[in-house]
Amino acid sequence: MHEISIAGAIIDSVLDAAEKNNARKVKKVFLEIGELTALNPDQLKFIFETITKGTIAEGANYEIQVVKPSINCKKCSYNGHIEFFEKLHFFLPVIKCPQCNEPDVEIVAGRECCVKKISIS
Ligand SMILES: [Zn+2]
Repeated sequence: MHEISIAGAIIDSVLDAAEKNNARKVKKVFLEIGELTALNPDQLKFIFETITKGTIAEGANYEIQVVKPSINCKKCSYNGHIEFFEKLHFFLPVIKCPQCNEPDVEIVAGRECCVKKISIS
């Protein structure tokens, strides 16, 4: 489960930012997660709740915005979302242009995994 290491890195940066701002409590964490990261938002929330026990982020709320994958096609200059499929444990992103089927595309969105902002008190 790569969620655990990623969740740990996210919480480290949240706690770091909170401490730098002399926070007593982290109330809310806003995150952006791209669909191509294959991260499960519910699983992430569960891990956050577990690993923040005993820290100032214990009991924080998490708002996770899922970012749809989006590409730039180098061949036909299509710019927009792409299709991809996720089935249980089988994850198969179909990264190609939906217009001309070109696989050589530039991924412009969908790989995000970042903290957008945090709310502290
Ligand atoms: Zn294309």
